[in-house]
Amino acid sequence: MKYNSTTNKNIVVSASQAIAQGISSDGGLFVPVEIPQYSMADIEALTKLDYVGRAKKILSDYLDDFTADEIDECVTKAYTAEKFGSANPAPLSYQKYGDIDMNVLELWHGPTSAFKDMALQILPHLLIKSLRKTYPDKQAVILVATSGDTGKAALEGFKDVDGTKIMVFYPVDGVSPMQKRQMTTQEGENVNVCAIRGNFDDAQTGVKKIFTDPALIEKLEKNGYIFSSANSINWGRLLPQIVYYFSAYSDMVNDGKIALGDKINVVVPTGNFGNILASYYAYRMGLPINKFICASNSNNVLTDFIATGTYDKNRSFYATISPSMDILVSSNLERFLYHMSECDDVKVKGYMTSLKTEGTYTVDSELKEKIGTLFAGGFCDDVKTKAVIDEFFNKYGYLCDTHTAVAVSVYKEYAEQTGDKTPAVLDSTASPYKFSGSVLKAIADGEALPDDEFAMVDLLSAKTGTAVPKPLAALKDKTARFTNVCNADEMPEFVLSALGIE
Ligand SMILES: *Cc1c(COP(=O)(O)O)cnc(C)c1O
Repeated sequence: MKYNSTTNKNIVVSASQAIAQGISSDGGLFVPVEIPQYSMADIEALTKLDYVGRAKKILSDYLDDFTADEIDECVTKAYTAEKFGSANPAPLSYQKYGDIDMNVLELWHGPTSAFKDMALQILPHLLIKSLRKTYPDKQAVILVATSGDTGKAALEGFKDVDGTKIMVFYPVDGVSPMQKRQMTTQEGENVNVCAIRGNFDDAQTGVKKIFTDPALIEKLEKNGYIFSSANSINWGRLLPQIVYYFSAYSDMVNDGKIALGDKINVVVPTGNFGNILASYYAYRMGLPINKFICASNSNNVLTDFIATGTYDKNRSFYATISPSMDILVSSNLERFLYHMSECDDVKVKGYMTSLKTEGTYTVDSELKEKIGTLFAGGFCDDVKTKAVIDEFFNKYGYLCDTHTAVAVSVYKEYAEQTGDKTPAVLDSTASPYKFSGSVLKAIADGEALPDDEFAMVDLLSAKTGTAVPKPLAALKDKTARFTNVCNADEMPEFVLSALGIE
């Protein structure tokens, strides 16, 4: 299986090269040249396996330069009951919101309480093996731009992994207090964290610039380093996310919620378009998906794109209570456009160039139509988000975080407007305890709240009778190690000085 760049099909690399490198040298993203095809019998075989077994099958179909033993080792180390609380790291919780079924796929039982763990617990294993195959004598410098959750999940995944150094950049005022605390207290000898004066897009643009700066790359090479990425621009981040869509489908079949072959909808609270893109790959592989429902917060650039065919980042940026979705440039849309346009690299390059220079592009009408038949978009502001958290908990007994609530709200409107009764899998992407202040304000409107983050965590637990995830509770007694703040244009200097390179 080979991979090529979304913006130049003449660039062709192996799976391990794609993962080791993270992003193509021309600035495009790596995509599989062919997509493995699963028959209904193949999917039936998956229903008989546990999560680890399902992951092994799917990963091995994409990573053909890994041996079966290597895949086995990566998957088995990543998805342990110790790290994810049970043998199934991605369990479904069958809920009702009024008369609407909410089949909630809880993706936040990992070590950092966000769905990013599903990929970032395995990526370091995949990356180290990829590096040994491609650049045996180089150390990897992992650069991460984060809107809050990726940073911590990547730090936790790469902490003290031999042959790697990791640096995380987050928007100084753009993450929740708990997210900030998770990152600034990070342990490990090979980690570094820096806040950026700016928003997530500034951090992401800064990282992308470093990756494609020839002078910097050369400087690193001379010192025995190679850059790589733990953001969802890295194929090794995206691939493990395909697994939980097949797994959820299998679990629903086994639980008698659907019959094998029935179609489902997926509902995804979306930021960088990685999670929902993973579900699209599952669909292209043969998973029966009817509609993709793309849920955004007030940064509704994707809602507008799906409705009009114009992607326009020239708009106000809102800092919302669902900060991990505060994104105006959704990187993985580039991969989606590539596959939806029958692998038209020239077209994708045109759109991406226009996005870079004008901040906007419009897809042709054929592509817009195609997207519209598969995808529905919707968005929800903070007021609605809070109302949904309140009602879902106080009326129907299920506590969800601010991001999941955006998806619940958008799905509810979709179901009411369309009457579409296809059973839906709705992704729950974070524990409510990562956003205790916002969640408390939603369920206990008007009450005075404590200022201290951990007092809020305790109050949320007392009010809802739910347990605080242990790793979050443990942060209370840790001191901050990383207090650096810099401008986005100072990121290259930060990287060099952290590596001790002149
Ligand atoms: C990252 C994140 C999202 C957005 O996921 P994408 O793959 O970037 O679309 C949604 N919710 C939470 C809690 C996240 O951490």
